[in-house]
Amino acid sequence: MDPVQDKAVESLLKAISRISMLAEGNDPELDTTLQSVRANLGRSQSTEVLNASLQTLEPLVLKYDEERLARAQSFRSQLLELIDMSDDLPDAQMSPQAKKAFEAEIRKHWQSSSKWPELLGQAVQLLHGALKTPSKTTKNNSIIGRLFRRKNDHIPASASNVEIMTHVSHTLAALLTNITLPDIYRDQLVDIKNALTASNNINHLPALLDEVITLIMVAVGKTQEDLTLYLSQLNQQLASINASLVANYKAQRSITSHRKEFGDTFQNHVNSTKSDVHNATDLNALKQLINDRMHTITEAMSLFQDKMQEQEKQAAQSITHLKNKVNRMEQDASHLRSSMQEKIAQALSDALTGLPNRAAYQDAIFPLLTSAAKNQHALCIAVCDVDYFKKINDTWGHLAGDKVLRLVPRQIQSVLKKEHLVFRYGGEEFVVIFPMTSLEQAYEHCQNIRKVVESTPFNMNGDPVSITISIGVSLFNGKESHDELFSRADKNLYQAKEQGRNKVIRDN
Ligand code: GH3
Ligand code: MG
Ligand code: MG
Repeated sequence: MDPVQDKAVESLLKAISRISMLAEGNDPELDTTLQSVRANLGRSQSTEVLNASLQTLEPLVLKYDEERLARAQSFRSQLLELIDMSDDLPDAQMSPQAKKAFEAEIRKHWQSSSKWPELLGQAVQLLHGALKTPSKTTKNNSIIGRLFRRKNDHIPASASNVEIMTHVSHTLAALLTNITLPDIYRDQLVDIKNALTASNNINHLPALLDEVITLIMVAVGKTQEDLTLYLSQLNQQLASINASLVANYKAQRSITSHRKEFGDTFQNHVNSTKSDVHNATDLNALKQLINDRMHTITEAMSLFQDKMQEQEKQAAQSITHLKNKVNRMEQDASHLRSSMQEKIAQALSDALTGLPNRAAYQDAIFPLLTSAAKNQHALCIAVCDVDYFKKINDTWGHLAGDKVLRLVPRQIQSVLKKEHLVFRYGGEEFVVIFPMTSLEQAYEHCQNIRKVVESTPFNMNGDPVSITISIGVSLFNGKESHDELFSRADKNLYQAKEQGRNKVIRDN
């Protein structure tokens, strides 16, 4: 071997020996092999020995590399899990941006173990931050609560505050009167309405508002978007009302302090005049002195008057401003109320026929059953189902089927009285509630329904087509559950179908 090559091999061996030291400390098996490789390197410089040593090393290094990757993957998934944990904690809030940014960091560095402590540190910091930021839904930390408590912990009562509070409270109470809530919220609704109308302390407003908002959330369910928009407007308005109240309060305070300042000045003048008069020896000098004093006092008084007028003007302006704001809130609340009512009406009606739907039936039947049981009134329900409706769809198409579904309820209603309630229960099924009606009378009405449908020719692409309807009718026995009553009517309907359709079957 030439000396240049010798030198190169020697440097290479040295480098391998050093790098092998770097790799040590990760895996015991790898360590042992590395040590023997280094020992061999020291003893012989032949390439065969070198090759043999490197070959022993290769599978071990590969194995180690795989393990390292698996470790990094497990570290990555545990880190992500740690961050996701904050979603499950009741009071923690992690900002989505911070979370996203951190996830990007994880994606960038998860493979390099030197970065792990730093990643872990960031995760801990994020979690810590999240736990310190309470969830926005936590009652006592509501947005509105914080908004009101931000500048002034306590807003003192004043005539205009009481007036405003009364106004706001009544607006909110009126708003609550118009929402429909499940029964379990009834007590809460009454409590909060009472609290609203009883309180004239503006400091109670944030907590009461929170409760109103919670109830509205429950009542609307489906109109979250409207509500969010409304609440954010309400928030802005409340913020500016709050600012005006604080300004108003400051103005009142400054009036008081000006008054006191003027009183003090006046008193000083009087005191010094007294002593000057006492010490005066010459009548002319005394006259001059009194003149001067009177002049100073008049000036101070007119200055005070100017200030007072200015303050009063400002206070009047600020009250007008507040009244306008409250009026705006009232208008917004009334918009929300009508949009909520519209949404509720939509949710309760069937788009195709315009009839009240199954949800509306549920709303209507329970109170009627309760009242029938309590007052021992008769009440019947009829389940009506169009016969062979599938065939209508199949023969003339779905649109023709829809047309039939729009016409049939009109026929039904044409033979009923206005106290009889018709619902589209689903598909081609309609339910009629007959309040205060005996089974005999309800049966008569159902026969009329059956006859009018049968005798009306439906125009299908120019052809007159006869359609029939089957009906099961049942009388509420005053004790049974709604489901029992309904299932009896449904069984009667099934009987009507069994007996050839175009029939009305009542309870035996
Ligand atoms: P039966 O005499 O036993 O009541 O037979 P049927 O064909 O009326 O009853 P079935 O329950 O087999 O079919 C009801 C059909 O009503 C099936 C469904 O496609 C159709 N349908 C349900 N809702 C609508 C709708 O809104 N429009 C139209 N066109 N068809 C509907
Ligand atoms: Mg059916
Ligand atoms: Mg049918």
